[in-house]
Amino acid sequence: MKLTVLGCSGPYPAANGACSGYLVSAGRRNILLDCGAGVLGRLFALMDPAELDGIVLSHLHADHCADMLVLRYYLERVGKTLPVYLPVTESAMFSMLTSEVFKLHDIKLGISFDDMRIESLRVNHPVPAYAVRLSTAGKSMVYTGDTNLCDGLEAFCAGTDLLLADACFPEALWNENLPHMSAVHAAHLAAGSHAARLVLTHFSPAFDIDSLVREAENVFRPVEAAHLSLRISL
Ligand SMILES: [Zn+2]
Ligand SMILES: [Zn+2]
Repeated sequence: MKLTVLGCSGPYPAANGACSGYLVSAGRRNILLDCGAGVLGRLFALMDPAELDGIVLSHLHADHCADMLVLRYYLERVGKTLPVYLPVTESAMFSMLTSEVFKLHDIKLGISFDDMRIESLRVNHPVPAYAVRLSTAGKSMVYTGDTNLCDGLEAFCAGTDLLLADACFPEALWNENLPHMSAVHAAHLAAGSHAARLVLTHFSPAFDIDSLVREAENVFRPVEAAHLSLRISL
């Protein structure tokens, strides 16, 4: 299984950056996790998006799905449809994604592509949002999506080979009413779930990424920061 980071900013992109987007490849399968602002152009640099096997949207905030609206134009032009797994909600964004080129499925129902299994867990965010766990060939990775502290998340991440975790806030600025964890929480999640490695993500351009990594390293190692074009093979 290979992870390629296409975007890791939130809730808006850094200069020349992109919001949430992660390409997960295994065998001949290519799955896109989230499709935030700026992700589609970076995906085009790697592959034809019409050849994706599916798109998983953790939730329908624009920093995770805005580029679906322009992907739609491309798919209409080439006459392709793609399966999209997402929270089914009564929201303006869900209505905008209702299109003949997207075959929409409820993310809650579980997904499999050949021997790749994708499970989901509802997390703690102001809109319906899900963490996803992808497993294939004895390896697994978990992407938390956007979440603050969440019951059940540690068990969901148990023993994963790679934890890609929301680490938006410095510890000093975090509180329980915010929509995201801190980098320290991401590190505690990695330690408590016995993850093999931690990649911090969902970086706000307002905060210093190196400081977030240092905060996390006081709790768990190895930890690294997501960045554009980071590729990890498991
Ligand atoms: Zn976000
Ligand atoms: Zn969000």
